[in-house]
Formats: sequence, structure tokens, C-alpha cells
Amino acid sequence: MFLKSLQMQGFKSFPEKTVLDFEKGITGVVGPNGSGKSNISDAVRWVLGEQSTKSLRGSKMEDVIFDGTKKRKAFGFAQVTLTLDNSDRAIENVDSDEVSVTRRYFRSGESEYRINGDQVRLKDVHQLFMDTGLGRDGYSMVSQGRIADLISDRNSQCREMLEEAAGISAYRYRRSDALKKLDKAEENLLRLMDILTELEDRVGPLKTQSEKAQKFLSYSGEKKGLEISLWLSAIEKLKDDLKRHRDKYLISKDQYDSTQTELDSLSLRIEASIELAQSLTAKIDEKRAGAAETEARSAELSGQRAVLENSLMHNAATAERLRNEINSNKSGRA
Ligand code: ATP
Repeated sequence: MFLKSLQMQGFKSFPEKTVLDFEKGITGVVGPNGSGKSNISDAVRWVLGEQSTKSLRGSKMEDVIFDGTKKRKAFGFAQVTLTLDNSDRAIENVDSDEVSVTRRYFRSGESEYRINGDQVRLKDVHQLFMDTGLGRDGYSMVSQGRIADLISDRNSQCREMLEEAAGISAYRYRRSDALKKLDKAEENLLRLMDILTELEDRVGPLKTQSEKAQKFLSYSGEKKGLEISLWLSAIEKLKDDLKRHRDKYLISKDQYDSTQTELDSLSLRIEASIELAQSLTAKIDEKRAGAAETEARSAELSGQRAVLENSLMHNAATAERLRNEINSNKSGRA
């Protein structure tokens, strides 16, 4: 991993977009006093997330924005982009050959960070360089002031650099993060205790209400039980009635069926009787017709008989007269 380039715009004494490309090996920046050499290392520290205005040699964060000259107007924002070669994947979290970090700050106080163009939080920038030696507290950045710290007997400053070099600052960071969370949890606990005390005050009236509610529940349970037994006995009674009506219905149905059977057999018998009567009527009509015929024949025969008897009588009288005539004729000859 090595520093490839630094791009500044509107940062301190660099109003124009200024790009510094670094090659492998040592790069020296030379110039007269006040020409802006230290502003370059400030830009590096700033883009890596430096929050201390003192470290940036200002009194407020706005001081990093180009504040104009007699000939040039002040800028509204400062922007710095640092590009690192990451082909050795020294920054493990980013799987690309280049890592660029951008910080932009506006006079309004608004600021933003980007890693390879993606907007991120300041925390993400810190975590990206944790234990790489880079970062705002990294041992690879030694400013004029810090050399003085190292050689002075201020142990804490020295310790911070050694911790970063030993790779334990990540744990220190996590520890402080955990401690913050613990503080927050304690605060929450205190708030919960307050709520608990408040709730305890409400317990008395709530207890009375709860007893009433319990009584209500037990009475309504009893009422429900009574209603259920009432309904059960009504259902039992209805069941008995139903059984009785069903029995009656079955008996009536039997009676109806047997009457229907009787009715059917009577109908059959009536039909047979009607048929018989019809055939008898036909026979009677036939007999009557026969009788009438016989009567007519008898009348005819009676007439013929009377005619025959009459002619017989006439013939007998004729015969008698003839016999008498014969006899008289005989006696006359004699
Ligand atoms: P030395 O060798 O004395 O340490 P240097 O080359 O490191 O000097 P710096 O301290 O980096 O110089 O730059 C200081 C210059 O930056 C000053 O001229 C100052 O006016 C200018 N400067 C600082 N902040 C701003 C700003 N916000 N706007 C414009 N110019 C600024």
C-alpha cells in the first residue's frame, strides 16, 4: 500500500483543484515559509477524518475552507481526495487495487465522506484504516507538533502512537464503543427504574380495579355456566318433545301406510266389481235382447197357433158338416 495521489480543492491555501501525484520512494515538498507545505499534511490528516481543529492548526472546522485573498473570493466548501494503491490488499475490507477516500465540508457545517465514490459515515473511514498505521492517529503521520510530543515526557501521546503501531487501537476503539453502549444501557436501565417506580405508584388503584375485574370475571363465568345449564335443560326438553313427536309420527305413518294398503286393495276390488257389474250388465242386456226376441217369436207362434186353431176349428166344422152331409146323403140313398 502506498499513497498515490492527493487532490485538494478549496482546502486552506489551495483554492484551485490541485493534484499531487506521488511515486514510489521518497517525495519531498520544499518551499518558503508559509507557502502551504504543512497544509498538504493537514489535508491528508483531514481527509482521514481528523476532528480536532487544533491539530489542523485552526480554531474552528470552517478554517480549512479557503477564506479568500484580496484578489479571490472565499470558497463555499473544501474537498480533499486521497488515493492509495491497494494492489497488495493491505486494506482488507476493500477488494480493489485502488482505494480513494473523499471528504467534503461546507460552510453550513454539512459534511460528507466517500470511499471509492460511495457515501459512508466517518466511522467507516476510521474502521477502514484501523491498525494500518494510517488514519487520523496513525503513526505514519508525524506532524511537527507530534515530534515534540514524542520527545517530551507526555506519555499519553506516545502511548497512542505505540498502540496504533502494535495494532491494538482497534481493540481500544471497540472497547470504547462497548463502554459507550454500556453507558447507554445504564441510562436506559435508570429510565426503566423510573418507569418502574411510576408504575408501582399505579399498582394500588390497579389492584382494586383488578379485584373488581376478577369478581366480574367470576360472576360472568357463573352466569355463563347457569345460562349453559338452562340451555342444556331446554335442549333436553326439546329433545324429549322431538322424540315424542317422532314416535307419534311413526305410528301415524304406519296407520297411514296400512290404510293406504287397504285403500289400494279396496280400489282393486271396486275396479274388479265394476268390471264384473259391467260384464253382468252386458250379459243381462244380452239376455234381455234374447228374451225380447223369444217373446216376439212366442207372440208370432201364438198368432200362428191361433190361426192354425181357427183353421182347425173351421176345418173340423167343415169336416163335421161334410160328415153330416155324407151321412145324410147316405141315409137319403138308403
Ligand atoms: P512553514 O514552513 O513556516 O511551516 P508552510 O509552508 O508549512 O510554512 P503552511 O503553514 O502550510 O505553510 O501554510 C500557511 C499558509 O496557508 C498561510 O499563508 C495561510 O495564510 C494559508 N492559509 C491557511 N489557512 C487558509 C485558509 N483557510 N484560506 C487561505 N489561506 C490559508
